[in-house]
Amino acid sequence: MEIMEQIIDKLKNSKRVLIASHTNPDGDAVGSLVALGLSLLTLGKEAVLFNESPIPAVYRFLSGVDQVVNRLKEGCIFDTAVVLDCGDLHRVGGAAPIVEHIPVVINIDHHVTNTRFGHFQLIDPEACATAEIIYRLIFAMEIPVTLEIANAIYTGILTDTGSFRFSNTNRRAFEICEKMVSRGVDPYRIAQQVYGTYSLGRIKLLNLALDSIEISKNGKLSMMVVTQQMIRETRARAEDTDGLINYARGIKDVKVAVLIEELNHGRDGKGVGAKNFSPLPYHVSLRSDGSVDVAAIAAAFGGGGHSSAAGFNIGSTLPEIKTKIIGLAEEM
Ligand code: 5GP
Ligand code: MN
Repeated sequence: MEIMEQIIDKLKNSKRVLIASHTNPDGDAVGSLVALGLSLLTLGKEAVLFNESPIPAVYRFLSGVDQVVNRLKEGCIFDTAVVLDCGDLHRVGGAAPIVEHIPVVINIDHHVTNTRFGHFQLIDPEACATAEIIYRLIFAMEIPVTLEIANAIYTGILTDTGSFRFSNTNRRAFEICEKMVSRGVDPYRIAQQVYGTYSLGRIKLLNLALDSIEISKNGKLSMMVVTQQMIRETRARAEDTDGLINYARGIKDVKVAVLIEELNHGRDGKGVGAKNFSPLPYHVSLRSDGSVDVAAIAAAFGGGGHSSAAGFNIGSTLPEIKTKIIGLAEEM
């Protein structure tokens, strides 16, 4: 039996299903979670939608987000777990040991560096988003795509392709989004929700982040820094750093953009238990123009991701990290 059929078979024969996506969720992690969650609920399954972190404000317009829990009750029993958009199991956060003990773990993802954890893997690095794979799964299961599900899938694809601009933007991104629009999705409304409802704190933080940009001597690497001091000063939220790196990425001749982000351990849930469940003080995000494989760079630092968007956590001082990062430009 093909892997998709095996997974469908498992899901159809499950009663209680845990669906989880990565901490500090992006639009794909939220969209995939909601789309699959609502679909399984339609099938009459007892589906629990789980994400350890708060859902960023810009995604709270999605119906179904109110069903997402950030804690698992002790002693709750699941027969199947579906882990979405996670390159490795630790990306789900502190619940990883619970997930590991669920009898059937299904790993659905599109990261090249996926560790192939779990019992069943539906991994397609060619997929523009995990939401693309979820769409295929829902289609194969013949579950009707309601407007709520369509909004979630559209949001996952829109955000993971950077509004159809990143190198993962493929024909299926447009095909699926066209289908979602024909089911009633309003592209303007979603764009407004996702990109037009930023807090003032985020814009002020963007100002400081832009000011922090440094460029390597050869002009091929740009580096941006966000510290906890900057977040406090601007009254931004942890989620307000999402996407800032794209400004560093858009500079002429830059091949690799880097965002070094100081994590806040404990207080806002970012840090320990988040950003790959790391006690390390900094998270480094990498983006490339396609000519440099940043997944390989991230993997060398113990992280992972896609060839053009990856990340890792690091325990060092900020000046030391900056020196190491700038040094990477010499090999480009
Ligand atoms: P970001 O660095 O912007 O949070 O994430 C960029 C991409 O790299 C995402 O697709 C994310 O899944 C992946 N990524 C980020 N940090 C890590 C990490 O520490 N480990 C792994 N395996 N992947 C990461
Ligand atoms: Mn994704």
